[in-house]
Amino acid sequence: MKQEMGKIDITPRWEELSPLLIEWLETGKPEQKKLGREEVKRIAELAQALVDYTKSHPELRVVKCKHCGKVQVVKSIDKSMGELIAWTCTHCLEQNDCKNEEAKK
Ligand SMILES: [Zn+2]
Repeated sequence: MKQEMGKIDITPRWEELSPLLIEWLETGKPEQKKLGREEVKRIAELAQALVDYTKSHPELRVVKCKHCGKVQVVKSIDKSMGELIAWTCTHCLEQNDCKNEEAKK
């Protein structure tokens, strides 16, 4: 759900929804379990698409902020496939120096 004028995005973030999703899968009613399974499948497909995309775009890295723990995609500073030396978190704006801190790659 998005508003055009104020541009307020109230779409819940998956990491915020995940406790509810887990609860549904563990102790939910049959229809909640069904919804939960469908949602996990959908999230897995999207996560795979992201992994595939970053594989074909070596300048992109999936990283996890060591300050706030948020996973995000960043562009390597050196476009010629060089090492990603440092990046700024888009959530907490802290600087991360990153060797061996990629979440998935
Ligand atoms: Zn952060």
